[in-house]
Amino acid sequence: MSNVSKKELRTSIASRLSQHMEVETLDEWPPIETLGDRLANSGVSRRSFMKYCIGLSAMMAIPISLMPKLVEAALAKKTSVVYLSFQECTGCLESLVNVFPNTRYNLSATNSTDSIANIILSALSLDYQETLMVPSGIQAEISKAAAIANPEGYILVVDGSLPDDKKGAGYFIQHGMTGLDLLKEAATNAAAIVSVGSCASFGGLPAAKGPANLINPTNARGVSPTGATSIKAALDGFGGIYKTKPVINVSGCPPIAEVIAGTLVYWILNKKAPELDSNLRPKMFYGETVHEECYRKEFFEEGLFVKSFDDAGARAGHCLLMMGCKGPTTHNACTTLKWNQGTGHPMEAGHGCLGCAEPDFWDKKSINAQGQQGVGFYNHLDPATIDD
Ligand code: SF4
Ligand code: SF4
Repeated sequence: MSNVSKKELRTSIASRLSQHMEVETLDEWPPIETLGDRLANSGVSRRSFMKYCIGLSAMMAIPISLMPKLVEAALAKKTSVVYLSFQECTGCLESLVNVFPNTRYNLSATNSTDSIANIILSALSLDYQETLMVPSGIQAEISKAAAIANPEGYILVVDGSLPDDKKGAGYFIQHGMTGLDLLKEAATNAAAIVSVGSCASFGGLPAAKGPANLINPTNARGVSPTGATSIKAALDGFGGIYKTKPVINVSGCPPIAEVIAGTLVYWILNKKAPELDSNLRPKMFYGETVHEECYRKEFFEEGLFVKSFDDAGARAGHCLLMMGCKGPTTHNACTTLKWNQGTGHPMEAGHGCLGCAEPDFWDKKSINAQGQQGVGFYNHLDPATIDD
């Protein structure tokens, strides 16, 4: 598909859908509710909203001078989001819905039972999401067609990796279209593409090679015979406009809810991607390693390590490096934003970081205690290679 106009795209989708049922035009849009409307309806005062905006701007490293812009943008019309799922486990979506309600932002000073984070996310118009949306079948297809032909534009969110279906193997087919076709159609007029989770960002589990001794009966490379690839690699493969579409990777298996929400909110406020690292991840969330802010780091510096999950070191809360913790080489916000509405993170629960936000984490090789190369979550990094 070349760079088609929105009108052409709308006509072509209407024509495709008309083969299944009577669809003549895609011109009817639901009334658009602004965040201001939702705030008023939820009993949230302007003062409480401004307090939240200050917190949000600090989290996203936005200078306080840009606060009026942040407030203005947050109160503007809803931004349409089209959310596609490919080879995935629905864990990323499960994580995202856990942002509701976020007790850290509860507004006990008001009569509101809603949270600001909930309201901010509700300011997104989730126009297509197969798991959460009410319509099904052809009605769902009409919702997507209307969303991707919306003249006001949209953000495309994708979770899961894409199978290589170029040879027509049929690994991922929806009403006769391959995953690659579906991505291309939905990406054509997207303002930005947000790859949610490590599968969409880097290929993830479906792209894992697995242990060297794996015997795959299909003789195909890796665990999966589908030749899974990341969303960015698929877009690059399309060439043309798709190579230059802004892509933001929000990696993690799954990513933290506030990181997904914060990335979407940043785009809505600024109409551009935040500063990204070399893996296309927002530096505001992936700029530091999990190790840098870990509360067990003082034990790491003193050389006090847990050697087994029930030893005295484990009971004393020592560093989990020798139990395979990959915190020193993993960039994510787990020890700063934390998980489960700011409740805690894996090291607080006594388990090391698995490195889920890094490319190829399923296959990551590390040195074990005997100095052997191996694959496995519980093989540890060499302490000598880690900066304090
Ligand atoms: S190695 Fe793991 S447990 Fe130890 S300080 Fe770093 S992140 Fe925390
Ligand atoms: S602690 Fe490590 S494995 Fe766990 S969620 Fe964070 S980055 Fe992923």
